[in-house]
Amino acid sequence: MLPSEIEAAKKSILSISGVNPKKCMVCGKCSGTCPNYDSMEYHPHQFVQMVENGEIEPLLKSKSMYACLSCFACLERCPRQVEPAKLIEAVRLFVERQRGPHHLEAEDVPNYLDADMPQQAVMSAFRKYKK
Ligand code: SF4
Ligand code: SF4
Repeated sequence: MLPSEIEAAKKSILSISGVNPKKCMVCGKCSGTCPNYDSMEYHPHQFVQMVENGEIEPLLKSKSMYACLSCFACLERCPRQVEPAKLIEAVRLFVERQRGPHHLEAEDVPNYLDADMPQQAVMSAFRKYKK
């Protein structure tokens, strides 16, 4: 990505999320409380710091944004009200909007199903892949 594209992406992600990463004191409590920590290549505090530092490209390529459960534990735990979950959601939205609508079609869903998958996972996938 060009520097101007990185700056535009950062601006967009911050605007979507409403988060001010400058408030983060990098205490790591958000990541320490995240129930899906082990599934994430980049953890909540890293999302905050990487967006702030303009390290956007690796975040956009990582699947970490899809591992967030939106449980808001990190949001509750943060002593500075940074709300990292909103930033992770904004990164995901930024990526999906760039891909365009209808990334996941209803007729493709059966290919992703297995016997143990709850129905909520299908609904969640539509929400995460179609915005
Ligand atoms: S808990 Fe808040 S202040 Fe601490 S690292 Fe996470 S976002 Fe930053
Ligand atoms: S909202 Fe996402 S990043 Fe935050 S604690 Fe829950 S799973 Fe982890």
